[in-house]
Amino acid sequence: MKKVLPGRVEIIAVGTELLGSHFVDTNSLYLSARLKELGWTVVFKTVVGDRPERLRLRLGEALRRTDLVVVTGGLGPTRDDVTTSAVARTLGRKRRLDKSVLGAIESRLRSRGIPLSSGSKKQAYIVEGAKVLPNRAGTAPGQWLTIGGKQVILLPGPPHELKTICEDNIWAVLMKKRRGFFVRRVLKTTGLPESTVEARVADLYPKRGDPGVTVLAYPGQIEIHLEAFSAVSRVQAARKLRRLNLGLVRRLKDCVFSQDGKTLEEVVGGLLRRLKKTLAVAESCSGGLIGHRLTNVPGSSAYFLEGVIAYHNAAKIDLSYVPARTIERHGAVSPQTALAMARGIRRRARSDFGLAVTGIAGPSGGTPDKPIGLVFVALAWRGGAEVRENLFLGTRDRIKIQSAQKALDMLRRRLLLEVRAVRRGQVL
Ligand code: ATP
Ligand code: MG
Repeated sequence: MKKVLPGRVEIIAVGTELLGSHFVDTNSLYLSARLKELGWTVVFKTVVGDRPERLRLRLGEALRRTDLVVVTGGLGPTRDDVTTSAVARTLGRKRRLDKSVLGAIESRLRSRGIPLSSGSKKQAYIVEGAKVLPNRAGTAPGQWLTIGGKQVILLPGPPHELKTICEDNIWAVLMKKRRGFFVRRVLKTTGLPESTVEARVADLYPKRGDPGVTVLAYPGQIEIHLEAFSAVSRVQAARKLRRLNLGLVRRLKDCVFSQDGKTLEEVVGGLLRRLKKTLAVAESCSGGLIGHRLTNVPGSSAYFLEGVIAYHNAAKIDLSYVPARTIERHGAVSPQTALAMARGIRRRARSDFGLAVTGIAGPSGGTPDKPIGLVFVALAWRGGAEVRENLFLGTRDRIKIQSAQKALDMLRRRLLLEVRAVRRGQVL
């Protein structure tokens, strides 16, 4: 049986402004997302300036390597709008004046008291053989051509016009000839660097690229994006994906904190809720980021009692009950102070857990024995506490992000132990 593959798409974004430093091509993000839902995958994206000879070159190449080419932009009334004529020349077709398009443009302009210019009239020229895609949101219509089994769709650049035309004229048609089904899943991990994640699982990656695997790195978080395709059904695509997913989780174990899009703070919140436990945090170098993330989750008041930013030494003493002695003896950035903050904030808030962070975020303030990026994270609970030393790399904001991530993950791992103990009928 012949293997049916997803439809291959190239998007060509036309516009000199898209090559500069002020504008980005966002149309292709919308197009990629919607096309994917219909079994089409974007394999190339090209940005080309308003230069007909360069557009012709790119279009020729796109037609050789893909089944559907979507050209956006350059359909407007100004002289730099060259898409229609460049496409016609590349395909060896003429342009024709479409009377009904001209009528629509005229009446649109008339209603706003604008006379018909030669530029506006230019927008009524259509590549011969193209189906006109009416534009309710602007003047230039889209155009849809079929050439020897390949398709070319021309769309105006303004995003709301492009979307309106697609909703009105394109998605329903492509839906009828859908090429298959994509199913996606994102595994989020923390606690391992990107290279270690890759080394642990790379032999599981399918040789043919289906499901496709993409590894993305964020500070303190490595994500594995999986995408499976089936020409037959969503269920079949999901089955392929599930098999790979299981293999990955078996290798990465507890480093995987989410398989359903949930954030680390949502996962931690879910575990606290499930165990009916409460939390308070004392933050120094993370500057409130942990509290911010936890309170981004709706309903977090069920388990998050309080957070303090204990930045100055006096605040560590006042707000998180650190003995002055501890800071004098060991310094504000020390395992002893981190532990005292975690225990202190727990006592102050009368919570089940106390979580604390103290460290040096830089760019100044580092010393040889306490360098920038040195961060202690501590967790206290009834009858116990632990502290971890970390050395994070990067700018101040990246150190803050990694500190918060580490603290939340430390709590998550402790909560997992408790959930498993409860399951076994033990009390920790
Ligand atoms: P118009 O009839 O408005 O002239 P057009 O088809 O000629 O439409 P352009 O002139 O190329 O479109 O672009 C019009 C506007 O749309 C500009 O503000 C441009 O920055 C924006 N635009 C063009 N292409 C894109 C893109 N790929 N992503 C996001 N915005 C875009
Ligand atoms: Mg224009």
